[in-house]
Amino acid sequence: MKVIVAGGGIGGLAAALSLAQRGAAVTVLERAPQLGEAGAGLQLSPNATRLLFRWGLEDELRRVGFAPLSADIRDRGGAVLLSTPLGAAAEQRWGAPYLQAHRADLHAILLASAGAAGVRMQVDCPVETFEDDGGGVRLRTRGETLDADVLIGADGIHSQVRAALAGPRPPRFTGQIAWRGLVETQRLPAGLIAPAATVWTAAGAHFVHYHVRGGELVNFVGFTSGARSAPESWTEPARPGEVAGAFDGWAPAVQALIAAQRGGCGWRSAVHDRAPSRRWTRGRSALLGDAAHPMPPYLAQGAGMAIEDAEAISRHLAGPLPPQEALRGYAAERFGRTRRVQAWAQRNGAIFHLPGPLRQAAFAVARSGGGGAARLDWLYGYVPPSELCP
Ligand SMILES: Cc1cc2nc3c(=O)[nH]c(=O)nc-3n(C[C@H](O)[C@H](O)[C@H](O)COP(=O)(O)OP(=O)(O)OC[C@H]3O[C@@H](n4cnc5c(N)ncnc54)[C@H](O)[C@@H]3O)c2cc1C
Repeated sequence: MKVIVAGGGIGGLAAALSLAQRGAAVTVLERAPQLGEAGAGLQLSPNATRLLFRWGLEDELRRVGFAPLSADIRDRGGAVLLSTPLGAAAEQRWGAPYLQAHRADLHAILLASAGAAGVRMQVDCPVETFEDDGGGVRLRTRGETLDADVLIGADGIHSQVRAALAGPRPPRFTGQIAWRGLVETQRLPAGLIAPAATVWTAAGAHFVHYHVRGGELVNFVGFTSGARSAPESWTEPARPGEVAGAFDGWAPAVQALIAAQRGGCGWRSAVHDRAPSRRWTRGRSALLGDAAHPMPPYLAQGAGMAIEDAEAISRHLAGPLPPQEALRGYAAERFGRTRRVQAWAQRNGAIFHLPGPLRQAAFAVARSGGGGAARLDWLYGYVPPSELCP
């Protein structure tokens, strides 16, 4: 089967690798002139690392990753509102580790493995239009025409393939701005940043930090609510003082990270999402990752869901059904789970930003309902459905 994947982000490369390992001839078309990822961190929970390991990436991922000992949600003043044991406990409970990685490291690992599996990459090739005549897909990029049996749109939140399948509606702005930065650990006071995925919360804002690249770097991202509009971008620099102003008076770890950011600014991105839609597939084309189900990053699952999608779409396409039916089966399998994850991410964002007493009450409910780990079994303990059947 000849498959074209539009988009060489984490979702597109994961799909290309999984498809190639299942025997497809895959070409990735990337719009940008270079393949790569933003200078930022990524949390990979066990549902994602389990699949990455199955694709043969365990040694390299463990080498570049950082396994936090816990995920701690704190009040801005420091009180722990909810703590989930990770480290060895995560691996034991969910059968795979919770790892934090630099995006560029994960991207480079996927790119090398996909290349070794025979995937062809073409950069500077935006998918512009495509037609499906029932027997195949013909698409155009930079004046060239390419034919394939299947087209997968892994082209992100502004997906061109999605516009063709579901209509050209733009993503919606959540009113929240993300302030991102990456700091060398050695530039911070020793021991100040706990070996944990930490979320500090306050009314209208929260701040996340964690180690990546084996502990060499600390990634941070603070979120504030109430903005009117802003462009969705991974490359827009913040203005001097903006991040410090937004988190003035927060915990010493937060202050130290902002102060240690080289240039003092970091980056600014507006957080966008879309309402869930079932229109992921038509004929021989289908969507995956942020193109299908973009979500705010408050459950750290966007890339994880793209990785799960990648496994599912390759499994369905490798089965006995014609591509159109296989893609419908893929979408039917994935819709419910990704919709639940989108809803949890949105709800987390709302809870993190509640005023103090309401936020404390929400986390007291979470603690009483079995604590940190049990409530995540459905998410982190995910096993692809076919593997549950004899
Ligand atoms: C601040 C922040 C923190 C996050 N933290 C986490 C986290 O900790 N864990 C997690 O799992 N997720 C996290 N996410 C979500 C995660 O980043 C995304 O869900 C994930 O990167 C989506 O991958 P993708 O491949 O679907 O899309 P993208 O990464 O957007 O890739 C799409 C690719 O398609 C290309 N493209 C676009 N149009 C075309 C076209 N017409 N033709 C060809 N190519 C095209 C683009 O150039 C790009 O390379 C976070 C998101 C944000 C904003």
